[in-house]
Amino acid sequence: MTVPEIKLVFDEPVQRKKPPKHLADYSPEERREVAKALGLPAFRATQVATHYFSHLSDDPQSWSDIPAEMRQSIADQLTPRLIHLVKSVSCDAGTTRKDLWKLHDGVLVESVLMRYTDRVTVCISSQAGCGMNCPFCATGQAGLTRNLSAGEITEQIVAAARACANGELPGGPTRLSNIVFMGMGEPLANYNAVMRSVRNITDPNPDGLGISARSVTVSTVGLVNGIEKLTEEGIAVTLAVSLHTPDDELRDTLVPINSRWNIKEVLAAADAYEKRTGRRYSIEYALIRDINDQSWRSDLLGRLLKNRNTHVNLIPLNPTPGSKWTASRREDEAEFVRILESYGVPVTVRDTRGREIDGACGQLAAAEKTKSD
Ligand code: SAH
Repeated sequence: MTVPEIKLVFDEPVQRKKPPKHLADYSPEERREVAKALGLPAFRATQVATHYFSHLSDDPQSWSDIPAEMRQSIADQLTPRLIHLVKSVSCDAGTTRKDLWKLHDGVLVESVLMRYTDRVTVCISSQAGCGMNCPFCATGQAGLTRNLSAGEITEQIVAAARACANGELPGGPTRLSNIVFMGMGEPLANYNAVMRSVRNITDPNPDGLGISARSVTVSTVGLVNGIEKLTEEGIAVTLAVSLHTPDDELRDTLVPINSRWNIKEVLAAADAYEKRTGRRYSIEYALIRDINDQSWRSDLLGRLLKNRNTHVNLIPLNPTPGSKWTASRREDEAEFVRILESYGVPVTVRDTRGREIDGACGQLAAAEKTKSD
């Protein structure tokens, strides 16, 4: 297993044509400056933010507080469309919908919207591709194409909020309640854009969507420097750590960045996050048949986590095309859960929504790319 190059981008070097700038790339204060730089009064920035975040409007002609002849050009400058729908596929009687988006440079990313009885969750991408090289993950196979801008990340979230408000999911109009950074990419390797997007989610209207931080989950392979930086932000999002095994030997293979920050270091960073924010963190564990699902590993995991404020999310492996790995047997999964519970560790097995639409983990974008290659 080759170890991926460790590239933690806090400010991405200029390598390619950047996506157009968008209001969502900036803080509320910066937005006012941007409006002024465009020769507009600063209050226009607040008006446009209200249309974008509060009304979820993508039709500038309805922005009646802005002179009609200026609407389109202001929209083009402050809220250019950054993501273009290529296709949507639905399953679970329409309550799971996967959207494939094309970005300004032709790059493809995906998001998945899931309606449950008590909530609506969108799973969004933070990067096109991923540099972390986890061998069981479809996104990891193709490597990192590029970081998404805060605007490109936020557009996926606003599109989901709009779809909910417009009643596009069965069950009628509703509100987007949860956002998980579990689509393509490693969010903490695109730190600044992800944090700007998190603020766009949590800032109250009209600066953002006004959704609480606890409804936002940032999932990471365990970039300790990123977790430490997140701890200092003073914003209590839910942290999810993709552990996948309790022993360093196997984790070096399943999550190659483990050779940079091992399990002990990752859990120490997550503990410090929990201590500072008071938020219990999640441990993600994809159960892979005969690879990491043995009862001795569950036992080791139970001992590792029993005194920690954490919750284990077991994910039946979604096999990627061409991989020899598959999901655990039902009885091994049940035994794994039983052992963890015997240590008093809270555990849930994640439902496997969206399987038949390549719902999990970069597979739709991968399938689309293969078709066009
Ligand atoms: N890079 C981040 C977030 C993206 S993936 C991270 O690794 O945490 C979200 C979760 O899905 C991670 O726990 C990831 O390991 C898991 N995952 C990836 N591919 C999977 C697959 N084929 N089956 C099940 N889970 C998978």
